[in-house]
Amino acid sequence: MEIVVATNNEHKLQEIEAICKSQNLNIKFVLPPKEFNPVEDGISFEENSYIKAKAANVLTHKYTLADDSGLCVKALNGAPGLYSNRFAGTQQEKIDKILKLLENKDDRSAKFVCVMTLLDEKGNVKFVANGECHGSIIREQKGVNGFGYDPVFLPNGKTLTLAELSEEEKNDISHRRNALIQVINFLKTLDK
Ligand code: IMP
Repeated sequence: MEIVVATNNEHKLQEIEAICKSQNLNIKFVLPPKEFNPVEDGISFEENSYIKAKAANVLTHKYTLADDSGLCVKALNGAPGLYSNRFAGTQQEKIDKILKLLENKDDRSAKFVCVMTLLDEKGNVKFVANGECHGSIIREQKGVNGFGYDPVFLPNGKTLTLAELSEEEKNDISHRRNALIQVINFLKTLDK
């Protein structure tokens, strides 16, 4: 089976591939064509996930999986949330902005959210999954692995940030994993 991953973010593709491999699921994941550039104007992770999945499906007419994800910080009323990717210019600027906004905050709890939408060749919604990873924002960034806000996110129960954990360790606990495991279980039912 081949599934188009509706993203331009190669890190997401890599994580999805690695998680599926760890679950012995033999699926070839491919990126959409370069024309894929949807306007993410939904008002929820669910809506943006569908918008991305639909845009890739219209271009490819193949099974499509979209991942809309983001970081929600409690003391910032859930921001950057849907706007995680557009919160500031470079990724370093996004991290600096979060750290600055939280400078005087004691409650640093946060969560990553990931909503995955799976469409069939005809564009019908086959499955929607929601995964979360809970933790807190540390005061100084640490680590170089992963991507995005990983260097400032300390998962609950861990002493290392997501960017200090190995790829396998992140993929064991991440929001992406928690959503993808549900999708994988659904895909396994299609195989039977
Ligand atoms: P999206 O491509 O619109 O879903 O944007 C998601 C944004 O949320 C990314 O650009 C990152 O800034 C952030 N994000 C999502 N997942 C992760 C993750 O696993 N680690 C760190 N940052 C993430």
